[in-house]
Amino acid sequence: MNQSARNVLPGRGRVGILGGGQLGRMMAIAGIPLGLEFVFLDPSSEACAGSLGQLLQAEFSDTDAARQLAAMVDVATFDFENIPQETAQALAQIKPLYPPSRALGACQDRVVEKEILTGLGVRVTPYHAVSSRTDLLDGLGKLGYPAVLKTRRLGYDGKGQVVIHEQEDLERAWQQLGDQELVLEAFVHFDAECSLIAVRGTGGETRYWPLTRNVHSEGILALSLAGDFDQALQSQAEGIILRLLDHFDYSGVLTLEFFVLGDELLVNEIAPRVHNSGHWTIDGAQTSQFENHLRAITGMPLGGTAADHEALMFNWIGHLPDREQVQSIPGVHWHDYGKAARPGRKIGHATLTAETRQELAANARRLATAARGKFSYLLNSIPGMNS
Ligand code: AMP
Repeated sequence: MNQSARNVLPGRGRVGILGGGQLGRMMAIAGIPLGLEFVFLDPSSEACAGSLGQLLQAEFSDTDAARQLAAMVDVATFDFENIPQETAQALAQIKPLYPPSRALGACQDRVVEKEILTGLGVRVTPYHAVSSRTDLLDGLGKLGYPAVLKTRRLGYDGKGQVVIHEQEDLERAWQQLGDQELVLEAFVHFDAECSLIAVRGTGGETRYWPLTRNVHSEGILALSLAGDFDQALQSQAEGIILRLLDHFDYSGVLTLEFFVLGDELLVNEIAPRVHNSGHWTIDGAQTSQFENHLRAITGMPLGGTAADHEALMFNWIGHLPDREQVQSIPGVHWHDYGKAARPGRKIGHATLTAETRQELAANARRLATAARGKFSYLLNSIPGMNS
């Protein structure tokens, strides 16, 4: 066990967070009752976590600011995946940083990530690294159409990726992304998407939340339904994430996103952090991903990860629906991140909890109607939630 982490006693700890977005904000909301205080580093003076602690306004590339943050806290973490390695390492030389910077570094490059997974015997989407137009043609020859061309780095929420349906799409895709290192993936005709969130304490204690079914729209998570898969798939997912926790000598929350193909899981992505698909744990699980991440990195015992209720999360992207209408639905938990509304931006979510799946489905239809847009259609793609 790391001695410095053990020294962060409940009620006395100060946690530094690289990033002050909604994930940092939800960590602070979970951590303040544990007696923790928070310092955020973020380039924006408007960072939505800022009101819950101290905010150091600096670029993520500013290693001096990272050292300043380190001097102010007992332990540090991040809420954003694209923190430069130099920044993470500068901080980690002064104070413990969890998850470790090697996990952060590996997950910033889609090809490195896939190589690690393959090396651990884990199935990933068939892929081909692309540095030139010739590589792209070779990749399409190998993987066929349709295929998905993605940037190796800095992609998120469907940004930095283009589906190549047929040969005619090739030029447009190359013009759009061709000036950087890329990866071509086979288009997976999955039966479902799901994610597993695990947490490991600095002493090695490990827990898993139930697998979550995820529905994306235009590459952005729209809906997450907790605990929608059988024990065999849960065990398969836990076996895979355990290999990664061991490989990275990991502490904190780790998320794996999967494609489900029959009774097999294919890893799509690793996120070395708390994750959007785990927001339901705030209102639907014994302990939320945010609280357990903080417990893990400050050396506290971990809390239970069982789902207390049926839970379904709706992401508010670009605009918030009518709050009064949404809040009048039984079992709704409203979360407004306090961010300015912008197209494609995650600005809040609502989790619906219920005692039975039937009650959840009925209220989910009301919520989808109140939220308007694509939600009713997306909800219909989930077995048992369709009207
Ligand atoms: P990503 O940024 O890689 O997590 O992709 C965002 C979403 O795009 C995924 O959750 C899928 O819904 C879709 N997607 C990404 N890659 C593929 C793929 N190779 N085949 C099919 N769908 C994909």
